[in-house]
Amino acid sequence: MNDILFLKKEKVLANRTIYIEIKGRILKSIDTLTKYFEGERLAETCKKGCPNYGMKWSCPPFAVPFSNLAKRYTYAFLLIFSTEMKYYEDIKNKYLAVKAANVTLKSTIEKSTRDLEIVTKGYTLLSGSCRLCKPCYCKMGKPCKHPDRMRYSMEATGLNVQRLSLDFLEHELLWYKDKTLPRYTSAVTLVLYNEDFTIENMVRLLEESMKR
Ligand code: SF4
Repeated sequence: MNDILFLKKEKVLANRTIYIEIKGRILKSIDTLTKYFEGERLAETCKKGCPNYGMKWSCPPFAVPFSNLAKRYTYAFLLIFSTEMKYYEDIKNKYLAVKAANVTLKSTIEKSTRDLEIVTKGYTLLSGSCRLCKPCYCKMGKPCKHPDRMRYSMEATGLNVQRLSLDFLEHELLWYKDKTLPRYTSAVTLVLYNEDFTIENMVRLLEESMKR
């Protein structure tokens, strides 16, 4: 087996059953990610187009650049969860359908990624901005309430997630655009760590995490 994993898991929700496709890849040298660091360009994009800019401790301009985090770790594990939008076709408002799918994907991948973080004694970058408090204490001018649990998104640290997903897992990220439903939607995370885990280890850890 090479350093890539592919799993398909059923997830039973209160109002539907969906299948989640899971792709993962071990990157044996974290240095291979440095060419995907586009910190200044992505921070500028956030500044122009995202209401969370400067409003969440997990977002630019407060997020730590990936180049700084990478110095402390040797390996990285790239993880993508995706699900087809056909499971949500009963939701007539297409934007809400994508939102519902993303909420499920993000919470599911976050749980598994945090589990991997514990076992690998690593550090995770999650999908989307931190959602631990509502609102983020940053908005109230207060320090982060859970600095030990707060994690940045990959984008917030300056990584180009689309390029990374395509290059390492041949997975294109699709978005809701012009009122058109994408065929599928995805969530992407990264675990940084120092111990040399095999892909079989990662499969077993993910399987266990998804059963809990
Ligand atoms: S833990 Fe709370 S205060 Fe800290 S970044 Fe997350 S939402 Fe904001």
